[in-house]
Amino acid sequence: MAQLKDIVPKHPKDPAALLDVVRDVQAAFGHVSEAAIGRIAEHLGLSEAEVRGAVTFYHFFSLAPRGASTVYLNDSITSRMKGRTAVARAFEEEAGCRFGEVSADGAIGLFPTSCIGMNDQEPSAIVDGVVFTSLTPDRARAIVRGLRSGTPAREQVGPLGDGANQSDLVRAMVVNNIRERGPVLFGAHERGAAVRKAVAMAPDQVIEEIKKAGLLGRGGAGFPTGLKWEFCRREKSPRRFVVCNGDEGEPGTFKDRVILTELAPLLFEGMTVAGYAIGAERGILYLRSEYAYLRDHLESVLAGFRQDGLLGRHIAGKDFDFDIVIKSGAGAYICGEESALLESAEGKRGEPRDRPPFPVQKGYLDEPTTVNNVETLAAAARIIVEGAAWFKAMGTPQSAGTKLLSVSGDCERPGVYEVAYGLTVADLLEKAGGAGAKAVQVGGPSGTCVPPAGFGRRICFSDLATGGSIIVFGPDRDIFEIVENFMDFFVEESCGWCVPCRAGNVLLKKTFEKIVKGKGTEADLRDLETWGQMIKCTSRCGLGQTSPNPILTTLKGFPELYEARIRKGEAFVPAIDLEAAIRVGCAAANRQPECKESLYD
Ligand code: SF4
Repeated sequence: MAQLKDIVPKHPKDPAALLDVVRDVQAAFGHVSEAAIGRIAEHLGLSEAEVRGAVTFYHFFSLAPRGASTVYLNDSITSRMKGRTAVARAFEEEAGCRFGEVSADGAIGLFPTSCIGMNDQEPSAIVDGVVFTSLTPDRARAIVRGLRSGTPAREQVGPLGDGANQSDLVRAMVVNNIRERGPVLFGAHERGAAVRKAVAMAPDQVIEEIKKAGLLGRGGAGFPTGLKWEFCRREKSPRRFVVCNGDEGEPGTFKDRVILTELAPLLFEGMTVAGYAIGAERGILYLRSEYAYLRDHLESVLAGFRQDGLLGRHIAGKDFDFDIVIKSGAGAYICGEESALLESAEGKRGEPRDRPPFPVQKGYLDEPTTVNNVETLAAAARIIVEGAAWFKAMGTPQSAGTKLLSVSGDCERPGVYEVAYGLTVADLLEKAGGAGAKAVQVGGPSGTCVPPAGFGRRICFSDLATGGSIIVFGPDRDIFEIVENFMDFFVEESCGWCVPCRAGNVLLKKTFEKIVKGKGTEADLRDLETWGQMIKCTSRCGLGQTSPNPILTTLKGFPELYEARIRKGEAFVPAIDLEAAIRVGCAAANRQPECKESLYD
């Protein structure tokens, strides 16, 4: 039986280790008890409130027991489209408890979770840290039976996926689903070539080459990478950091999963090139908790780099020292926002910081830091080898190069596609086998819902910008069900720091639901628009600034659906059924049946 006294002291007495300690305690005991909070706080020199604050912030930590074994079933819209309801029911029947609960014998806990990066093989779940994909009701029952009879989740995995997923260090059911290999990420690459070429150049030349290539951040925001590196290098500080944002949490995105699985050496070369360019000695890969199953594989790639002189002291024989460590998240969409990610990497709640100062000025541990996406860094490595002109010749004038897209939903060939920027939505649908689509969600819930009339639009920064999530909705899909799922996601994932995002999205969703139920008026429709814009303009970070998009973009793309639900010519229709609400109140207060009169006395 694991003991707190064995788990906590093996971690360094460093507040930045908080998430690592809590993760171990959660894994050992299924929750973080008050006794554990006290012990961790004492060991790390933190207050109990700080430890409790972190525990309550992240999805995969809990103050209350979550069962000897814990099932986290993905609740994304794609999972629902692929049969989640039947799988969830099977889990519940076999476990003997509902989602959000732990079975009476304490053996099984069932919990929903946001997208776990497996949208191309749904329904999927994480069971005791092990990923299960393409679940069926029968498989769900078998997993629970296996856990109850003492077969751990890791021994129930199978069949294994392809590529590195089959390796001893990964052993995952995950399938890469690489559908189109483009020249940048999947082009022939000699291991170490980017690092060797970079260190033979001056750091300024490396930055100049990236700037000339026109590389824009692949996470979706599209900030020029070379400029970010230049800003960071210019800061006067003896310490700088490279942080790789490996926290792709946008529902429908899974392209970084494939890069981390199959192209990790290219990513680590990109981080090393960035480190050389900005003058850093340390890189941090912030790995989303959902991809923890890749950690041993990634550590092994790093060990190989050290062995071959591509990391460590005097890299490639030059006066350049650099190394990379991996830090794991604990389940929070907001940690994909760069300043929230930095807070999390420092072991705190992943709440966004005020900006300025920007991370290039004050980032990790308040030192100048460049935060780049996984795909951006991998592309940077290729640019150094092949040259800026080669890269710029692909894509469009404003969006150079290629983009790795994660395609899922109602299509025959879900998976990742590396395509040149400028591809139309219609072209992508043809590649993926998505004929007859009713809509395509470009950029995940925070992006744009594109109706068929917009299928001629192009995927690029000047038209449809995306971090990589593309979800296809077939002709029979209910647009309102999709919007509701997306708004639930934002309400759940808001960190709660600022009112427009925390309260505004709840109000927005209630008004949306009122309209969907046929109780909305023209005024409610106008409120959706004005409140949505207000939330976008006044929220503190990117999450709030994009959270009304599911409603705003479907209002624009599918106005007839909303028009058909509202009551025209009526000034006000109450959203609640007062009689029903009173009945609920009475039942709660045990005041039936005469309670109605007494309420009005
Ligand atoms: Fe937090 Fe939302 Fe405000 Fe961002 S916009 S700081 S997620 S409450």
